[in-house]
Amino acid sequence: MRKCVKCGRYTLRRDKCPVCGGELTVPHPPRFSPEDKYVEYRLKMKMKSGLLSLDKPLIYDP
Ligand SMILES: [Zn+2]
Repeated sequence: MRKCVKCGRYTLRRDKCPVCGGELTVPHPPRFSPEDKYVEYRLKMKMKSGLLSLDKPLIYDP
């Protein structure tokens, strides 16, 4: 699926717009969210596996 940069129509063609002959672009850019749930999940997995040791215990109990 591509979108014409000139007329804004969507087309399945790859070379150029079938309506106006304009250039085509991929309409949806890759979504990037640092606060993704997947990132949170990965963080938890790291904590579980002991790779991440950010939170050291405040209360020391020897
Ligand atoms: Zn067009």
